[in-house]
Amino acid sequence: MDDNSNNFLLRVGVREVEAAFRPVGGFAPAIGCMDERVIRLSETDSRSPMVRLAGAGGLIGPDLASAVLEMTDVVRRLKLKYVAYHSDCGAGELMARVGGKHPSEGDDLAREFAESVAKTACVKTVRSPLDGPVGHHVALCHYYCGVPFAPHMVTELPTGFVTSRFVTDGEYGKRELVIAAGIALGEHGLGQFSTKSPYRIVVVATNGEELARLLVEARAAVTSLPARMRRRIAVEGFVAS
Ligand SMILES: [Zn+2]
Repeated sequence: MDDNSNNFLLRVGVREVEAAFRPVGGFAPAIGCMDERVIRLSETDSRSPMVRLAGAGGLIGPDLASAVLEMTDVVRRLKLKYVAYHSDCGAGELMARVGGKHPSEGDDLAREFAESVAKTACVKTVRSPLDGPVGHHVALCHYYCGVPFAPHMVTELPTGFVTSRFVTDGEYGKRELVIAAGIALGEHGLGQFSTKSPYRIVVVATNGEELARLLVEARAAVTSLPARMRRRIAVEGFVAS
């Protein structure tokens, strides 16, 4: 690890983070949701690290049709084989709101989006199980990743949302940070965050230059939030070895 940028790891007491970057068995060839409760590709998997964006990219917009095309490109580029969706999907609920539909249609929309991408990219969909409370989020942080990273593979790492920033651009990346912060600090989140014990955005980068760039994005996302949220969020990061 980079000595000048691993304060986060030192603070949470993580000595060995290798398994999050290079998990045994590798990364599943799949894209799934950033939701911290989704850590398995399917019911039969124990733990499956995968590429992750909110609603498997369903909010990447400007509309659903564009999002399908963009995520199809991602699936093809990364040679993925599955598009995953899950129940109680907050991103799906947002997709419904953006599309002028009732939030209760969110899970259907998230599934339909996954099916559309899978159909266009000629791959399969899979329904990921929800390993966490229904209707409630337990994320303590948000991993904003310039490199494939699966925090749930390392027990000591705090539970958090995961954005695979390396498959999208900074403008959309910032949007996911804002969406996730709204969930974590909102009525469906833990609600325990304070200036002394903040919700954290943790940048995971491949080198110092990328770390600096992604930190700027993360801080810009925080700056765009209301003061009552800003003061309960900390931004930090580290570099993969
Ligand atoms: Zn979701």
